[in-house]
Amino acid sequence: MPEKRVLMAHHQLNVVPTIPAIAEAPTGFVADALARPLQDLRISLTDRCNFRCVYCMPEESFGKDHAFLPQTSLLSFEEITRIARVFVAHGVQKIRLTGGEPLLRKHIENLIEMLAQLKTPDGRDVELTLTTNGSLLAKKAQALKDAGLSRVTVSLDSLDDTTFRRMNGVDFPVADVLHGLDAAHTAGLGPIKVNMVVKRGMNDQEIVPMARHFKDSPFILRYIEYMDVGASNNWKMDEVVPSAEVVERITAHMPLEAIDPNHKGETAERWRYRDGGGEVGVISSVTQAFCRDCVRARLSTVGVLYTCLFATSGHDLRALIRHGKTDEEISAAVAHLWHSRADRYSELRSAKTKDMNQATRKIEMSYIGG
Ligand code: SAM
Repeated sequence: MPEKRVLMAHHQLNVVPTIPAIAEAPTGFVADALARPLQDLRISLTDRCNFRCVYCMPEESFGKDHAFLPQTSLLSFEEITRIARVFVAHGVQKIRLTGGEPLLRKHIENLIEMLAQLKTPDGRDVELTLTTNGSLLAKKAQALKDAGLSRVTVSLDSLDDTTFRRMNGVDFPVADVLHGLDAAHTAGLGPIKVNMVVKRGMNDQEIVPMARHFKDSPFILRYIEYMDVGASNNWKMDEVVPSAEVVERITAHMPLEAIDPNHKGETAERWRYRDGGGEVGVISSVTQAFCRDCVRARLSTVGVLYTCLFATSGHDLRALIRHGKTDEEISAAVAHLWHSRADRYSELRSAKTKDMNQATRKIEMSYIGG
């Protein structure tokens, strides 16, 4: 299958990071070539998912015979925690567990317990979050909270059961995700964000109903522009609904006004209801690239570090660990590669969309971690 070849080709492109001759101790701050600090780490716990969302892991490319990664190639919980500790020493304040579907990783609570022990160089807790499709949340929310998870983000593309079942590709009922959301709220995993990927012609009719449903609720709804990640979703620009249009459509029914970001580098632009009914966010990764504030690194399921969601190759940290390198050596290698990071794919894509979509072969989101 072509998709498998794409992934394998990428494996071959990965490089084992260089360990600098002089290993400087981490200072809690490391900046890249464009002066962006390293602050967020996303960790993919599995390349498997129980959904086959049309824009992410479509059934045509991830069918019954798809070869997922073997268990032995996955980073162990000890390896993940070791790498995470190195990143926290360099300034990472937030860790997001993702995938694939992270709740499919067995005994995830044990990993959360281990990660919840990490402290920033100035002694603060690391914010520990998780992105999930919500299908297993009703069952697991309390255990996740008890293990030390700070909060969850739940992906939900439609409230209409027919549309939702079609988009998730496995006929999963929306009611079960809504139960999961309630369970997460009851367990205290908030503030809970709900992410809706908007694909024109597929679920854009759900923009206003979703806004209405989550207005005046404890959940913060965010609309995500459908992105050209991976190679299997056949992305087309005319299927993207620009955030400006989303805001306009909601405002026609429930007036919105722009509000300030919570912090620099926040991916979502915030809008609040003029009547005080809470806020929504829009994530304009296609129409308004935010590369210049990107402070995120991504660790794949097999321990490859990507410095951009759209990277075509990564840095094999697992090789360092499994070849017996010390924490100091791994730390120095991470600082060295972050110093030379200059990725700004989305800004370049905005400049010449068509050429880049044709010319680059990007890695699937389920592998690199969404
Ligand atoms: N399985 C988990 C979930 O559903 O949230 C975590 C992994 S999933 C890849 C993370 C997020 O990426 C989801 O919100 C998903 O909707 C989003 N996503 C996947 N493909 C996308 C695309 N092409 N454009 C925009 N968002 C996408």
